[in-house]
Amino acid sequence: MTSPQSILEHTFGYTRFRGPQREVIDTLMAGGDALVLMPTGGGKSLCYQIPALAREGCGVVISPLIALMQDQVEALCAAGVRAAFLNSSLPPEQAQQIKAELVAGELDLLYLAPERLLQPRTLAMLRRVSLSLFAIDEAHCVSQWGHDFRADYLQLNCLHEQFPAVPRIALTATADRRTRAEIAERLDLADARHFVSSFDRPNIRYRIAQKDNPRRQLLDFLRSEQAGHSGIVYCLSRSKVESTADWLVQQGFTALPYHAGLPAALRAEHQRRFLREDGVIVVATIAFGMGIDKPDVRFVAHLDLPKSIEAYYQETGRAGRDGEPATALLLYGLEDVVKLGQMAANSEGSEEHRRQERNRLNAMLGLCEITSCRRQALLRYFAEELEQPCGNCDTCLEPPQTWDGTEAATKLLSCVYRTGQRFGAAHVIDVLRGSTSEKVLKFGHDQVSTYGIGTDLSSTEWRGVVRQLVVRGYLEVNGEAFGALQLTEACRPLLRGEEKVQLRKLPARVRRPESSGRRSVEEVDPADQPLWEALRNCRREIAEARGVPPYVVFHDATLREMLATRPQTPEALLAISGVGDSKLQRFGDAFLAVLRDFPPQ
Ligand code: ADP
Ligand code: ZN
Repeated sequence: MTSPQSILEHTFGYTRFRGPQREVIDTLMAGGDALVLMPTGGGKSLCYQIPALAREGCGVVISPLIALMQDQVEALCAAGVRAAFLNSSLPPEQAQQIKAELVAGELDLLYLAPERLLQPRTLAMLRRVSLSLFAIDEAHCVSQWGHDFRADYLQLNCLHEQFPAVPRIALTATADRRTRAEIAERLDLADARHFVSSFDRPNIRYRIAQKDNPRRQLLDFLRSEQAGHSGIVYCLSRSKVESTADWLVQQGFTALPYHAGLPAALRAEHQRRFLREDGVIVVATIAFGMGIDKPDVRFVAHLDLPKSIEAYYQETGRAGRDGEPATALLLYGLEDVVKLGQMAANSEGSEEHRRQERNRLNAMLGLCEITSCRRQALLRYFAEELEQPCGNCDTCLEPPQTWDGTEAATKLLSCVYRTGQRFGAAHVIDVLRGSTSEKVLKFGHDQVSTYGIGTDLSSTEWRGVVRQLVVRGYLEVNGEAFGALQLTEACRPLLRGEEKVQLRKLPARVRRPESSGRRSVEEVDPADQPLWEALRNCRREIAEARGVPPYVVFHDATLREMLATRPQTPEALLAISGVGDSKLQRFGDAFLAVLRDFPPQ
């Protein structure tokens, strides 16, 4: 039997286990069950792939998405692992062939969708063969609270009854405790060892900016920082997805729309291009996500406010799986607050449910408005403490300026009161700024005492004041009354002059924060550019010839190490992280031929 360490080195080309991988693997090797919570990019796959290879028999991986299975199997085959998947996309002869290999003991890993696994004939077939383990990927799909609930997952507890001797491992990147408890209970994993990693994603730079001119802000960001990179732009509505994608195409980007209203074939095609081609931007609703196992997504940009911190963290988490620097950019404005507040107010469900949605939205807004480290706040939300400010978020890199907003706040609150708490922000601001709009005159608001007392601030500045007062609980946006601003109990001390408020000054432009040393995106030294291009071309040609995404050949980090060390022999190439025996044999000559033209200086 080959040891886990030897498989790590020879098959996967890595030298050391990461985080809890070693312990998880030991648990399964000893026949125990495990529940693994690790953030995206943490290295969950090796936790079951290695013991599946090291133990006798075939490992069965249950995964909810067909597209994802195919990618994982391709990557494993490139590393020389005998892996296959069975799903409805396969022609019958090929499925037959795979079953024959399974029965003959010629497979190390078999990927199945849950509905396939649960078919009586599949279970019967599995009972006839030797199995090393069951891995239940995306285990949070058992949770009825989440977005990804799959009824089939609930029946996976039958594995415990039918295969009591086969160890099971459940894996997820979903952080919250309730989900974890649900997974353990529903999958019958009472005796499993729990491995809970830190949920921090240190390579992701969090940036949140006030919406000013969102298209221009996005364009600045893409042009000045993300040229040629793959990324995801999230919007709330289908129509905005379409219009944003069209507009990006006009600006010269390769941008593809993705939402649940598009025909399935087109969605699949866009997803495929995103995975296979370099530098594709997908503009999507939240329907795009779980199937995305692409390691080199360099940015995730939100043009609308996510509904909760959980959603924000999950969506931004799709950036930088490969551990290389990545950016999460969120643009938000008062209109998002109003819109989401209305959606929450009109949503189905009990009053309690709506109250929870409002709380989640408020927590999200709080994250947008804080003046301290975003990462500390994010992790605290998931009950994790980060000792020091992170140094890799916008508030750490460029501490926001604050100003004494007491007088402005008092003016605004009075004006809301004087106009009867029946109007939205735009109208209240018009009154403050002394507008002579038809609506102001019609309601006689040019006669109230607060008319025209706010000409010292621009409309944009006033919107910033409104938003911050909403976030801090002085004002409420009434979703049932067309976004009317209303006072809360909390504003009494402020109106009586017993309390002061410091407000945040927000720079309107999305500027790249000045970083000291840490890069938001890895840049290649201009002198290295020719070799970098040559390595990428070599990778692209191999990938195209084999019909796989470029990262299945080698990840960016592996190419970067080649760039830095310029290996000239097979032994030197093998020493690079990500180069194992099989990849050396398959791709080694091609890369060495490129490197030979660029000897070490
Ligand atoms: P997850 O499924 O948790 O999102 P993956 O299993 O896809 O993460 O791993 C993320 C990346 O980290 C992959 O590129 C993988 O090859 C790499 N990786 C995993 N374990 C190690 C390790 N021990 N050493 C080096 N790289 C690793
Ligand atoms: Zn920080």
